[in-house]
Amino acid sequence: MPIIGVYQFSNKFMKCASSSGKRNISAEAYVKQAVNMINKDVIKAVSKLYNISANIDDYVFPVPRAVGADFPNSNGDCFTHEELTRYSNKHRCLVYQTFRNVPIHIEHKANNKKEARGFIPDAEYISTDPRDKYVLALCAVDSKKDPALAEGLVSGDIRYFSMGCVCEAVQCSICGNKFTNDRDMCEHIRPTRRMSYFGGKQAYEKCLGVSFQELSVVGDPAYTKAATQYILNRHLF
Ligand SMILES: [Zn+2]
Repeated sequence: MPIIGVYQFSNKFMKCASSSGKRNISAEAYVKQAVNMINKDVIKAVSKLYNISANIDDYVFPVPRAVGADFPNSNGDCFTHEELTRYSNKHRCLVYQTFRNVPIHIEHKANNKKEARGFIPDAEYISTDPRDKYVLALCAVDSKKDPALAEGLVSGDIRYFSMGCVCEAVQCSICGNKFTNDRDMCEHIRPTRRMSYFGGKQAYEKCLGVSFQELSVVGDPAYTKAATQYILNRHLF
């Protein structure tokens, strides 16, 4: 991956490489600033929860797109701009910011927090292109706990991610009805019909009351753009 910058971080220098051909200045500026804002007290606290390193020097930082706004992913789930940028009174932050401090897992095997490979120190909503809005996640992956994963992420051989979330309700894109459980769902968004077309309109679920729970490294992402955009590291793989 081409190196686009060298930043000072934690009093050392760090390379930043970009995997996307198209440069996004606001995303790059965010990454540079965010990596210097990582809170060492938070690392210490989550290191116990997730059984990961308390030493910031042990981490590599892939920065993937975590979720896109305003279109359905291949599972028929849609996260609207309105929902992602909504203030959640329950979490005291914006909905996309509930990505903060969630664990990073492999293929959504998220039952055991101690198996986490890292966590997400911060997330940002990138909306410079109104047709391509998305959440960018600054991921911290513990290279001591899973050296092969860290090496694969740095080389770009491993690059796809997928989010895990819970939502309080879903809204049908066709009839607009809202449902809080699967039993009551309208015909449009039953699992067998979801993503099919009704009178030229595609049926999918708009997720409401969202809380992000984890981000996983996966082989086959539901949101196909959920790949590493930047990678920061000072390890020499
Ligand atoms: Zn419906």
